[in-house]
Amino acid sequence: MGTETVENRRHRVVVIGSGFGGLFACKHLEHDNVDVVLISKTSTHLFQPLLYQVATGILSTGEIAPATRIVLRKHRNTQVILGEVHDIDLVNRTVTSKLLNQDTVTSFDSLIVATGAQQSYFGNDHFATYAPGMKTIDDALELRARILGSFEEAELAKTQEERDRFLTFVVVGAGPTGVELAGQIAELADRTLVGTFRNIDPRDARVLLIEGAGAVLAPMGPKLGGKAQRRLEKMGVEIQLNAMVTDVDARGVTVRDKDGTERRIESACKVWSAGVQASELGKMLAERSKGTETDRAGRVIVEPDLTIKGYPNVFVVGDLMSVPGVPGQAQGAIQGATYAAKQIKAEVAGKQTPDQRKPFKYFNKGSMATVSRFNAVCQIGKLEFSGFFAWLIWLVLHLYYLIGYRSRTVTVFQWFVAFLGRNRGQMAATEQWVFARLALEAMNGNESDAREVRAEIGDTPAPGTPSEAKDGSETGGPADSGADAGTPSGTDESATSRTPRPPAG
Ligand SMILES: Cc1cc2nc3c(=O)[nH]c(=O)nc-3n(C[C@H](O)[C@H](O)[C@H](O)COP(=O)(O)OP(=O)(O)OC[C@H]3O[C@@H](n4cnc5c(N)ncnc54)[C@H](O)[C@@H]3O)c2cc1C
Repeated sequence: MGTETVENRRHRVVVIGSGFGGLFACKHLEHDNVDVVLISKTSTHLFQPLLYQVATGILSTGEIAPATRIVLRKHRNTQVILGEVHDIDLVNRTVTSKLLNQDTVTSFDSLIVATGAQQSYFGNDHFATYAPGMKTIDDALELRARILGSFEEAELAKTQEERDRFLTFVVVGAGPTGVELAGQIAELADRTLVGTFRNIDPRDARVLLIEGAGAVLAPMGPKLGGKAQRRLEKMGVEIQLNAMVTDVDARGVTVRDKDGTERRIESACKVWSAGVQASELGKMLAERSKGTETDRAGRVIVEPDLTIKGYPNVFVVGDLMSVPGVPGQAQGAIQGATYAAKQIKAEVAGKQTPDQRKPFKYFNKGSMATVSRFNAVCQIGKLEFSGFFAWLIWLVLHLYYLIGYRSRTVTVFQWFVAFLGRNRGQMAATEQWVFARLALEAMNGNESDAREVRAEIGDTPAPGTPSEAKDGSETGGPADSGADAGTPSGTDESATSRTPRPPAG
């Protein structure tokens, strides 16, 4: 689509992002006298709250990430474009997106920007090499491969010290994602994997949840946070509060306690769920507007009608917007997008002008987190629930918001298998899932040999190390065991020598 003028066409709304904000904006504009163009860098609508279940083998990606163009197939006024937006021209009202090497310029009359947030490492982006976050499908698959791969490596470890390191899982950040992930790794070890290895007992796995603040699930208050903490501890999760992770490398993490002392935790598998940073487009919008600012996390401090200063046709919604009292949750994105769509609708229909808009009001429907199967904590207004009842509320609400009948049906079946039985249906993991992100980063950095990336992780053969048998024939190791799979791991000591990268920093 080339650059167009506004003549001979309907009012065009461009929506950027296919998450909760983007999708709900499209849904609310479906029957209106407007054309909608949804541009997103991912081809799916991702239900992030269940990513941790993909990472721990309960759900497949299809259940939580249906293709956006299929979801919107019946929206006759909507076109879906795959591409990463890298430029927004507010004056000429165009958005430029890129797919591979091709730029596409799309003109707009109204713009809704819902590009969300990414993981933040608080300025230590190199931590990501060893401790991926959990924001995308790629992250969840990479984590699944790293978690399962660590058990595989432990099975083949030569020393107790090595075994312990592979069986130590560190989750950084005790917000909802950290709590859910720690609980599920513990259940994976204590239920699903029991009896599947011969040299190790997966129940020996240590799951550590490390939090810089003094409480688990701090935003949910001390009562619910305390209940979640006690439940996790009962499951064997070791919770370390007031503990700041100051370094992450291939072999573990360095932690600084409240009294200033530093200590090491040896761990092959680390997960980062400690902070968020808004999409880069927030900064661009703020700089190009007439005086809009961003907050510390890069979110756009929007006007009361969710627009940016000087541009009443440009809305920012979801995790990218900063509105006092609105948390970075699905409800904030859905309600913001619905509000923006309603303003556009009313103005296109000539029922109001931008200066007649009523300010956006957020209705807090509450928050929740699962701790383990049959156990959750949940806050709705002033009411607080925990245990099985809270878990039932969690279950019903998540099913309600999952997109599509098929996703809901399959998800119910997978939950049935995982929660009532002890098996999980999605335990596949490949070596590529562990290394693809790093290989892409290496390629983008124009490094010649992506194989070098494998050494970045540590515990992998450095480039040039002879035994890289993918079928395990040379080593007797697993062909496809996830993290560090393909690593020499047989009985011959020479084939097992590893060349760990020196700790970062
Ligand atoms: C692991 C996890 C668990 C969560 N659990 C809960 C929960 O239990 N309850 C709850 O309410 N909330 C939860 N949240 C938060 C919730 O998912 C977010 O608040 C919500 O997804 C925000 O919606 P959004 O549309 O603003 O952004 P997102 O859903 O993040 O969507 C952003 C979209 O923008 C696209 N995009 C980004 N940059 C560009 C670009 N430059 N060009 C084009 N497209 C782009 C992305 O591909 C994506 O489609 C969780 C989040 C995570 C990560």
